Amino acid sequence: MEEAQSSKNFIELEIEKDLSEGVYKSVCTRFPPEPNGYLHIGHAKSILLNYGLAKEYGGKFNMRFDDTNPTKEKQEFVDSILSDIKWLGADWGDRLYFASNYFDQMYEGAVKLIKKGKAFVCDLTAEQIKEYRGDFTTPGKNSPYRDRSIEENLELFENMKNGKYADGEKVLRAKIDMASPNINMRDPVIYRVAHMTHHNTGDKWCIYPMYDFAHPIEDAVEGVTHSICTLEFEDHRPLYDWVVRELEFPNPPRQIEFAKLYLKDVVTGKRYIKKLVEDGVVDGWDDPRLVSISALRRRGFTPESIKKFVDLVGVAKANSEVDYAMLEYCIREDLKLKKPRMMAVLDPIKLIIDNYPEGETEWLDVDNNQENPELGSRKVPFSRELYIEREDFMEEPPKKYYRLFPGNEVRLMHAYFVKCVDYKKDENGNISEIHCTYDPETKCGTGFEGRKVKGTIHWVSAKEAVKAEVRLYENLVDEEKGKLNPDGTMNLNPNSLKVLTNAYVEPELAKVKPEDKFQFVRQGFFCADMKDFTNEKPVYNRIVSLKSSFKLPLQK
Ligand code: ATP
Ligand code: MG
Repeated sequence: MEEAQSSKNFIELEIEKDLSEGVYKSVCTRFPPEPNGYLHIGHAKSILLNYGLAKEYGGKFNMRFDDTNPTKEKQEFVDSILSDIKWLGADWGDRLYFASNYFDQMYEGAVKLIKKGKAFVCDLTAEQIKEYRGDFTTPGKNSPYRDRSIEENLELFENMKNGKYADGEKVLRAKIDMASPNINMRDPVIYRVAHMTHHNTGDKWCIYPMYDFAHPIEDAVEGVTHSICTLEFEDHRPLYDWVVRELEFPNPPRQIEFAKLYLKDVVTGKRYIKKLVEDGVVDGWDDPRLVSISALRRRGFTPESIKKFVDLVGVAKANSEVDYAMLEYCIREDLKLKKPRMMAVLDPIKLIIDNYPEGETEWLDVDNNQENPELGSRKVPFSRELYIEREDFMEEPPKKYYRLFPGNEVRLMHAYFVKCVDYKKDENGNISEIHCTYDPETKCGTGFEGRKVKGTIHWVSAKEAVKAEVRLYENLVDEEKGKLNPDGTMNLNPNSLKVLTNAYVEPELAKVKPEDKFQFVRQGFFCADMKDFTNEKPVYNRIVSLKSSFKLPLQK
């Protein structure tokens, strides 16, 4: 019990304190994305954290689009966001909300502040407001419009609402304290004039609330208790508290900040991903090289692996960068025992077994996963002509090369021992075929004991194998040079995508469905591409190779 206590993160501890002190009777969290792009791995952390907390404490989880900004928002993003969250397994039930549906409450809130003498209409230009605000060392100066009467403010604000002013002509500001050490508290703008059509409310409004005013109202209206956000909002918390206090919400929500998830040498921010998409560097938001949720899904990551990753990263109060290798570790762990281990030859070269009967095919019984008998077995065809990986043969092997070379014997995985007796070259001097003989006594699984070979290689039968496309990925960013140049451009890795169009896979692998996942022995974990895979023309994405440099840190 004590141990369970100590492994709680600081947000859980805060929530438990609030519940035990009766600050809140139950818990309500939310995920509030702006529908201006696709979600990424960082958002996944926020989603799973908020949803997980609601579940843990028997509370509610709200899905809310923070769509108070009339520009940039698109239905495409709304749809993709909902589908990503569903895929991750966070369930908002019937609690899907749009902040723009609260514009009336926000307007009323602003009027209430004016009536309390806590807000005023200001005619300063944006530049003047900035100048009057001061900075970390200089206190701000009061606006000359700060002392307008309540009546005048009410009238002017109504005029703002009724479209009497041009964009930027007037704003509504909270009246707090121009000398506050916290610049966010220096009479922040809370409403601006913007003659723009909103995707939900159309032309009803020509004034729109600012984020710091809108967000606490959205939370309060929905009965959110713990408004969990990232660290950059820490300095905004006093304003958040001021808004819910001055608007006299009963049982107001509280804001708690945690550190954003950053991946080392990986492009994470929405802005950067958007730029890669718009510049055509990648092929859309779901390009498997990205870490948007839709891209991770297409690459072959599972919701379980992302959840495991987020759990391993933990919830912290200080920003840090996490290695991508940790995410790779999580997907390997997830798929290792769940998925069949099959044979695919990515860069084929023909191997001919001279003493094997021509025209004959043996169907070998092969376990799908030697470590998990529950996955059963399948039939794999074996015949005289096979494909093996080009790199599994060398004319002149270096020391410790145990694969095929003239005179050497290896095991063909799940099949027989073969010995290389000859090889041929084409007119360019490239090896075109390898000739072997096999030993029928060495059939795998027949209990053959005796002479040993050092190398085992995989193969597919040339006649039955299916031709496939295989896509291999590397980091988009050139890690040697770092993520960004001083001028803000990105250092891209020219080898981030490698397309192999001449791979061969065992026939069972062509019968699968898009998004099915498997291990290709010795090559990694792969996923049938959700967009391009067909049974006639199979396409697989490599999720991750088998080798790992990642070591699990000591368990929390
Ligand atoms: P980006 O930082 O990529 O531009 P954003 O913060 O603008 O994203 P929003 O749609 O405003 O995206 O964010 C929705 C929620 O996701 C917010 O609560 C935000 O704090 C959280 N969030 C965004 N990025 C991360 C991250 N890297 N790690 C954890 N949470 C994040
Ligand atoms: Mg944002």
